[in-house]
Amino acid sequence: MFNLPDLPYSYDALAPYVSADIQHLHHSAHHATYVKNLNAALEKHPEWQDRTIEDIITSLDKLPDDIKTTVRNNGGGHYNHSMFWKMMTPKGQGKPTGTTLDKIQHAFGEFETFKDQFSQGATKIFGSGWQWLVRDNGELKLMSTPNQDSPLSQGKIPILGLDVWEHAYYLQYYNKRADYIAAWWNIVNWEYVSQLLTEAK
Ligand code: MN
Repeated sequence: MFNLPDLPYSYDALAPYVSADIQHLHHSAHHATYVKNLNAALEKHPEWQDRTIEDIITSLDKLPDDIKTTVRNNGGGHYNHSMFWKMMTPKGQGKPTGTTLDKIQHAFGEFETFKDQFSQGATKIFGSGWQWLVRDNGELKLMSTPNQDSPLSQGKIPILGLDVWEHAYYLQYYNKRADYIAAWWNIVNWEYVSQLLTEAK
């Protein structure tokens, strides 16, 4: 059975970029519901209960038909949000350093170019979804996914992800998604991104 992980900081820690109200609702209501729904679905097929979340979301096609969609949405939701909390920090470093910066510059040119392309991708997502920096066959690439789909289900390793579901910003930014995206860069946890990039080798 899966559990809701604690936030690695307090609910108000990401303010003013992401408000305490958003964090509270996003973590203790939305993420908690993904975990609850995922567990309820897996209870119907206990042989899946002991698998890791990574194993589950990379085996979606093997899931029993009656829980496939529920697990795709809620397992993806649990996996994505568990990473998302760690991808943010009240001690944002602004930009990466060292080999992480080198790798981003190698793939995209200047860091600001990467940031612009990532932001544009996030702005353009129609409806609910995620913008990602992923490692795909050793290369850094940008992609988006609809709903709670994870790049991992497509064999790509998530390195940095931004939740652009309205629940992630509407309480504070209303319809101004671009303002949320611009603010979010201030709280990106580049140390964690570097760790993911190292592990992805
Ligand atoms: Mn979310």
